[in-house]
Amino acid sequence: MAKRNIVSTEGRFVLTTSTAISPTWQRAMKEAVRDPAELCRLLDLPSALAAQATQADRLFSLFVPRPFLARMKRGDPHDPLLRQVWPDLAETLPVPGFSTDPVDDQSATLTPGLLQKYTGRVLTVTTGACAIHCRYCFRRHFPYGEAPKSLADWQPALDAVAADPTVDEVILSGGDPLTLTDARLAEFADRIAAIPHVRRLRVHTRMPIVIPQRVCDELLAWLRGTRLTPIMVVHANHPDELDDATGQALRWLVDAGVPTLNQAVLLRGVNDDADTLAELCRRLVDLRVLPYYLHQLDRVAGAAHFAVPEAAGLRMMEQLHALLPGYALPRYVREIAGAVGKEMVLPTAARL
Ligand SMILES: *Cc1c(COP(=O)(O)O)cnc(C)c1O
Ligand code: SF4
Repeated sequence: MAKRNIVSTEGRFVLTTSTAISPTWQRAMKEAVRDPAELCRLLDLPSALAAQATQADRLFSLFVPRPFLARMKRGDPHDPLLRQVWPDLAETLPVPGFSTDPVDDQSATLTPGLLQKYTGRVLTVTTGACAIHCRYCFRRHFPYGEAPKSLADWQPALDAVAADPTVDEVILSGGDPLTLTDARLAEFADRIAAIPHVRRLRVHTRMPIVIPQRVCDELLAWLRGTRLTPIMVVHANHPDELDDATGQALRWLVDAGVPTLNQAVLLRGVNDDADTLAELCRRLVDLRVLPYYLHQLDRVAGAAHFAVPEAAGLRMMEQLHALLPGYALPRYVREIAGAVGKEMVLPTAARL
């Protein structure tokens, strides 16, 4: 089972010059909380809770950067941000229908690290590292060890993209691509831009939300500098995730001319009510970030306690429709292995 651990994955692409000063975001990665007991201490929660986290923590380690932790309410074991990162005992129980590769990434793999499911766009697994460990992550069991590590290792994937003129968009995903240094990302973007038929470069990242300090001049420089049209897709699930620093980071991205979208996952005990979702969408559009997708939870082993039935999700979408302007409504989708794209979750009775 792939266990994501920043210690083993960071440094892959990190500059090794001894004079390099570690930027704030890299320090935030190093100083992230990895110990359930420490998390309890910092949040004024009973230490007995930490003991219950041990087993799940062994399956998928706790990892919470402090800028994200600072947005959690102290003394509240049900805080919606805490719930997203808390190694719950429920994760250790097998639940029928919840598997290690729920979206069939395995059969979508073209070359190591390169996935294609949909026409026109390919997804690159640039790293296994993330700035946070989300318990519901559909790639929590992904075999990251098999993905390319150096730029040279990426050559077969780049050759595959170059050989297919129908691909006009490359998605940097992971893990979180923004855990890599900007020097490395700029180089990778250059290699992709050298393929004439690729037009857009999309970045799927949670970094601007969890460690907003990641949105720095170096990042904006390569996003602005590439000939490709950059598109940023961030990931926030609850309005409390959008504090002042995150708002500033998102403003910088948008001011740099980077279209920025948000995807959220519908999660029980986190955002499974229309008022919370509506407030998330309002805050996002105030920041000029458009809600893109609301994902039905992928049925990944260990995440069953986050599941919300589709009928309940559809009711919430109807409520959202009545509360929000059309442009602030996310599309409610699920991922079905083998489908031509994300599939809209719709009421089965179609009106004629
Ligand atoms: C979700 C996903 C995409 C992107 O789909 P869009 O609908 O374009 O956002 C691309 N490739 C893979 C493998 C995906 O899982
Ligand atoms: S940031 Fe994304 S890839 Fe990383 S653990 Fe969270 S959901 Fe998974």
